[in-house]
Amino acid sequence: MIGLLGGTFDPVHFGHLRAALECLQMLDLAQVRFIPLRVPVHRPQPQASIAQRVAMLAAALADEPRFVLDQRELHRDGPSYTLDTLRSLRDEFGASQPLCLLIGADAYAGFLDWHRPLAILELAHLVVMHRPGHDPIASPALRQLYQERACTAPHQLATQAGGRILLQTLTPLDISSTRIRALIARGHRPRYLLPDAVLTRIEHDQLYARPDRRG
Ligand code: ATP
Repeated sequence: MIGLLGGTFDPVHFGHLRAALECLQMLDLAQVRFIPLRVPVHRPQPQASIAQRVAMLAAALADEPRFVLDQRELHRDGPSYTLDTLRSLRDEFGASQPLCLLIGADAYAGFLDWHRPLAILELAHLVVMHRPGHDPIASPALRQLYQERACTAPHQLATQAGGRILLQTLTPLDISSTRIRALIARGHRPRYLLPDAVLTRIEHDQLYARPDRRG
């Protein structure tokens, strides 16, 4: 079973890394593939360049062999649609390999607005990770989808290639890239919120020093 964590990673932080590790351990995943998106569909563009986000991710993932940097979305033109990414992963890993899309509760709140969400669920399971301050099931439509697809025991995910939804409790870490960018813009060092190797890259490239106009 393979975990997939897509994101802007602008920058990657311990909220991503710890969530990925806990999913890896609790769901018995063989690996978690970190998939930086090229052009976000639902949000403003990242501040760091593609090369800078890749360099930060590579630095963050270097110590854990089961964390894999997957650059397939960066090699594709246009918006990064999860459905295209899953099709490409299916081509690589086969039709029967269980794929688990790991998404935070904030991302799941918008899932029904994604491009063809039900087609996404045909290709992968959704593992909705609790995130401080976000209700994982924020609307009646999401509740209904969850009730239709709910999986309460992680080992059940391994019996199907996709189609189920699991709510995953994690050690709550209220860390976000937005907060890290804001700290840097105010002149603070965001130590202990992200790996030192990532902070070194941020400081080397003088990233996020200007105020974040994205809120
Ligand atoms: P930003 O603050 O710029 O929106 P972010 O911190 O949410 O960024 P993303 O790269 O957008 O980071 O997140 C990628 C994925 O990781 C999303 O599914 C998101 O919900 C999840 N995620 C990010 N931070 C956490 C966290 N602290 N706990 C659980 N899940 C998280």
